[in-house]
Amino acid sequence: MATIYVVGVTGEGQARIPSVPECLFCRIVSGGVPASLVLESSRTLSFRDISPQAPTHVLVIPKDHYPDLAALAAADGGLLTELVNQAAEVARAEGISGSGYRVVFNTGADAGQAVPHVHAHVLGGRGLGWPPG
Ligand code: 5GP
Ligand code: ZN
Repeated sequence: MATIYVVGVTGEGQARIPSVPECLFCRIVSGGVPASLVLESSRTLSFRDISPQAPTHVLVIPKDHYPDLAALAAADGGLLTELVNQAAEVARAEGISGSGYRVVFNTGADAGQAVPHVHAHVLGGRGLGWPPG
């Protein structure tokens, strides 16, 4: 049976999906799946990655469901700016602003995006290789 989601409309007039029941990160937002929270704002949540790839590895997500970076940018540029500001705030809170850090938005299969709810990886606390694998 098809699942129909009722969508809201942002200021820019683009459709958004407030919550998707089977989405892992929507379930973290609703409290159905536990997570180690780092920061929270009215529209974003920051929590530790369950499989950290660096001493600091925090995921920053919008509480509303957008599948990827392009969808978020198209729908609500203000929320994207808020997300990036939260990533910087996480870096400050983790004490890696001075040493440096990386913010990654994996998008799609070739980039290895496993969770289709846009998220910024904030990675730091060690030297990070470039180019990435
Ligand atoms: P992606 O590969 O989509 O860019 O990143 C998804 C990230 O979510 C991965 O780094 C993965 O370790 C993390 N992750 C997967 N399941 C969970 C979970 O249940 N809790 C937390 N905190 N992170 C998760
Ligand atoms: Zn979601």
